Amino acid sequence: MRRGCAVVVPVLVCVTTILLGYQTSAHAAPFRTVVVEPDLAACHGEQTEVKNASCAVALTDRWLRHRERASVVRETVMVQNPGAGLSWNRANGDVCVYAELGRLIDLGLHHCDKTTFVNLETDAALISTRSRTVTTFVHESGHGVQESVGLKPVSTTVFGPVDEVRRLEFASDCWSGAGWSWLIGEGYLSPADLTEAVEFMYSLPGRPTHGTGAERGRAFERGIAEGAAACDAILGRSAYT
Ligand SMILES: [Zn+2]
Repeated sequence: MRRGCAVVVPVLVCVTTILLGYQTSAHAAPFRTVVVEPDLAACHGEQTEVKNASCAVALTDRWLRHRERASVVRETVMVQNPGAGLSWNRANGDVCVYAELGRLIDLGLHHCDKTTFVNLETDAALISTRSRTVTTFVHESGHGVQESVGLKPVSTTVFGPVDEVRRLEFASDCWSGAGWSWLIGEGYLSPADLTEAVEFMYSLPGRPTHGTGAERGRAFERGIAEGAAACDAILGRSAYT
């Protein structure tokens, strides 16, 4: 009997937890993730991955609010390892997945279903400085804007065509540049921070789906110089303005 309880009780607790988690999934952070809380104070002083992430969430929020697009990023979450999940985004009729399974699967920093997913270890290079983290998080919010107008960044990335994937990526790089321009104007970041961000964009390794570092750097600089209208031009349709 005691042995039976030892098995049954944890199973019931587990099932109950899953059911409760399912019922409240509309509000709870996705399974095996932790919400990154925005923190403007984290934009000063020591730069750690956690502080950089909290700063970048706070600044991305401000940029999106300024553009009246706050709803495109519901939350930014750290994916635990192991951790994985899947949801359906009704806004654009597309699937959203995240997975961090040891060294087997690492989907890395990405955005879908109004959520930006990041892993502190596997994405360490992308969030090692404040400049990099702001650049990448605002880039991810650009995919949120794309979702909000019915585009499907996830399906497009998986099924192609690859030139369409690159268009989505360059548009997000541009959106990041546009965000930087505004954040500097508001005094949240310095021109020195921007120089680091530009260098970072040009230094990114080339990928078939994301283009070369030079192409990404140019898209980013176009956003800085011309603002969100240039990102629509890159995308080939109205989305950011
Ligand atoms: Zn992207």
